[in-house]
Amino acid sequence: MSRKQLAVLILSIVPTVLWGQSPGSASQFDGNSWWAHVKFLADDSLEGRDTGSEGLRKAQAYAVEQFQKAGLEPAGANGFYQPVSFTQLEVNEPKSSLALVGGGKTTKLSFADDAFISSRSTRESIKLNAPLVFIGYGLKIPEKNLDELAGLDLKGRVVVYISGSPADIPTALASHYQTVGERWKALKSAGAIGIVSILNPAAMDVPWTRIALNRNHPSMDLADPQFFETEGLKIAVLYNPASAEALFAGSAHTFSEIATLAKDRKPLPGFPLSVSLVVNAAIEKKNVESANLVAKLPGSDSALKNEYVVLSAHLDHVGIGAPVNGDRIYNGAMDNAAGSAVVMDVAAQLKAHPEKLKRSVLFLLVTGEEKGLLGSKYFAGRPTVPLQSIVADINIDMFLPIVPLKIMKILGLDESDLGTRAAEVTQSFGVKPIADPEPLRNAFVRSDQYSFIHQGVPSVAMDVGFELGSPEQKVFKDWLTYRYHAPSDDVNQPVDLQSAALYEDIVRKLLIETADAAARPEWKPDSFFARYAMK
Ligand SMILES: [Zn+2]
Repeated sequence: MSRKQLAVLILSIVPTVLWGQSPGSASQFDGNSWWAHVKFLADDSLEGRDTGSEGLRKAQAYAVEQFQKAGLEPAGANGFYQPVSFTQLEVNEPKSSLALVGGGKTTKLSFADDAFISSRSTRESIKLNAPLVFIGYGLKIPEKNLDELAGLDLKGRVVVYISGSPADIPTALASHYQTVGERWKALKSAGAIGIVSILNPAAMDVPWTRIALNRNHPSMDLADPQFFETEGLKIAVLYNPASAEALFAGSAHTFSEIATLAKDRKPLPGFPLSVSLVVNAAIEKKNVESANLVAKLPGSDSALKNEYVVLSAHLDHVGIGAPVNGDRIYNGAMDNAAGSAVVMDVAAQLKAHPEKLKRSVLFLLVTGEEKGLLGSKYFAGRPTVPLQSIVADINIDMFLPIVPLKIMKILGLDESDLGTRAAEVTQSFGVKPIADPEPLRNAFVRSDQYSFIHQGVPSVAMDVGFELGSPEQKVFKDWLTYRYHAPSDDVNQPVDLQSAALYEDIVRKLLIETADAAARPEWKPDSFFARYAMK
């Protein structure tokens, strides 16, 4: 810890001491129990907790033990477990190829350097040759009268888009329409058969070299056809922006011109490209079994105990992958042993200091988050308690206590009463609540809360935040560049135990207040997401 951070920490402790009588500010956590859980879950022996792996099963056995110690009741389909079946999809690269054809010549693409086949969305082996059409950000957002597909012939075409959204589209709305399911609905009805997604250089967390390094890691989807969202999507390709100029050869535009506009979130043109894409994708499938964990703390109010507040986190991570500096185990300490540890720690604390909560609480540790929010999608689609009885989801994913907690970023802050309450509780601990300052990162739909939102359940996710332009911003930027989804997200990295403990205090108080409130949380009437609660 630097001297400056120490000074900040001391300053932030002063109000607690002065206002020690205020019930919200006495800390219930010390950071050590949290860290002990993280150390267990992120140990090399758990091999990065990949969905369906022995390592994740060990992590689950440990979590069940913690839930039992905390006196929780099993609330899965099989004890604490809710079994989930997956289809694993893998591209056989030696038998596959991608090429661009145009101006009478064929240019073979390098999977490592140019573009690779996304196994998540390419579910069957396929050979095709299709014309390409550039569609800007590829968004159709009726609420904002945006239709980037309008006037373009997409029938039998593969569309090319750059990730991101125009600046005048509110974050939540933009995030929602960038989910694969929503995106595909519009593209499918326009007749498209495939997608080429160019990463937006202005919003890349992870450098291309590291993304491409793990491209052959198998992907998964839920085996249950109820959850299949991309019917008719034949090929999905992820494109390196550094190689994207080739896609625009012979058109009236260049990629550098597009990227410059996209950087400032300006509107983009749409037009047919002069090259077509030749695909030979060899896909291999197999079944994988895993499970969510569900534990219940029964409420004490005779009526409200039949309602549930969910505290969720994903226990899975990405497992063993390509070596970085000789290390192949992607330990996932912050992503998301850290969040799982909060769930276990809060459960234990509520046993040590019972609060007689009115509503029941579900402690939920999901699988398959790294495969595309799949475990939570399954739980929210097939909950082990009636869906209507779930009043809220408080989700924790990679909350990053790597600097002192002075600012709390609340995803969903402006969307519901739960967001408002999260901000109030945060403030009661002397921490400043803020909405997502980096909408381009799409965080609102990038973790498990989105599975609940989609089923109409008010949700929030909170992360340690920073002021734009502050030194802390660089700490986070570096963390994302060097540790996010890398073997170095392990227990040898610096963390701030006080920051983690304060975070736990805030989560605990939000959970208690939500469980005890007279009324269940509601979406704000003008929130885009209110629609799911009404369907
Ligand atoms: Zn992750």
